Amino acid sequence: MHPNEFQLERDVQIRAQVRTDRLQLLFRQTFFSVTGSFLGALMLSWLCWQRVDPVVVILWLSVLGAATLLRIVLLLGYFRSCADTRTPERWERKYWLTLVLTAAVWGAGALALMCSGDLLTRTLVLLFAVGMSVSAVSCYSAFRAMTIASIGLVLLPCTFWLLVQPDATQIGMAVASLVFASFVISATRKLSEAMETAFRLTREMEYAHKLATHAAQTDELTGLKNRRAFFHEAALIYERCKRNHQPLAVLMLDIDHFKRINDSFGHQAGDQALREIGRVIRESTREVDICGRLGGEEFAILLTDASLDIARQTAERLRQAVTQVSCEQVGGITASLGVAAMGADDRSLTALLNEADKAMFRAKSQGRNQTATA
Ligand code: GH3
Ligand code: MG
Ligand code: MG
Repeated sequence: MHPNEFQLERDVQIRAQVRTDRLQLLFRQTFFSVTGSFLGALMLSWLCWQRVDPVVVILWLSVLGAATLLRIVLLLGYFRSCADTRTPERWERKYWLTLVLTAAVWGAGALALMCSGDLLTRTLVLLFAVGMSVSAVSCYSAFRAMTIASIGLVLLPCTFWLLVQPDATQIGMAVASLVFASFVISATRKLSEAMETAFRLTREMEYAHKLATHAAQTDELTGLKNRRAFFHEAALIYERCKRNHQPLAVLMLDIDHFKRINDSFGHQAGDQALREIGRVIRESTREVDICGRLGGEEFAILLTDASLDIARQTAERLRQAVTQVSCEQVGGITASLGVAAMGADDRSLTALLNEADKAMFRAKSQGRNQTATA
């Protein structure tokens, strides 16, 4: 892949992850906003009970209760769903729908209370609507448009109603509310940008860390594990197999007369041959096997749950596959392999690898392009 394409793909991936992170934060913060908005309505109704039409209050609370229930069902659905289905495509639109519904019901109810109440009621209603707007900032901080929609639906209907009243007090209250709303909306831009940056940086760091770890463990030329990573993982597996009395075998593979390939066709051709051998090893082994390039043209493969017999068969298959490798210029390549299996008296991984190494040298001395067993 071209480096630019790689970067582009990485950016697309990170952007998608950031959207999912924001959604997750949104859902986590929603529980308080859902219950808080209903409790706020209850409190306001109680305070205004003597001053407004009780039918309006009961109707408002009933519809708001239903909308709140809907949001709770949505929340439960989200948190019960499998983590990899919590995608913005699946949840964002539903969230928007329930948000708009509750905010619209809240705003309409506030307006109805305001229309039917006295000045004290109107002041109380505006105070609560402003309070709801403040809580919207903290709840929907990751999604600026949601904060704005929620403030618009809750606060603006009663504010505009106050604005068209004949007396200066109510117009003054409306103007104050509008000034407040504009401050809050401009503050949300900075907040949501800061959140987006924080999410993006976290994901970028995670990505860089993953790349660095992979690079530190991988042999660049063949894509197999490098020497350090091979020994690290092999030691863990050796200990586990020994403890659980599971069979374990190891293969050593060394390319025959590799120096000649370099000398005759150049280092680049030699590198190409190493890449091909890496590919053959990957294709001839299982996911659970640990394959590494120990250095130069020498490879080691740890076969878990494999008896000496299975290991010998795998080695033979691998040796034959190597002879089928066709590299431009170089022509035929062969390799010599040594096989050893862990016995009851084996003391260490190094001892097991040494046995396989000795067997491999025997294969060399017996004429190369063959497998020898310890
Ligand atoms: P034998 O059959 O006995 O194993 O002979 P050989 O020539 O394969 O073994 P020897 O150890 O004499 O030579 C290994 C060569 O591998 C020497 C070194 O230049 C070459 N080599 C080591 N690492 C690399 C590499 O990363 N790329 C290339 N192209 N060559 C390498
Ligand atoms: Mg060699
Ligand atoms: Mg060698």
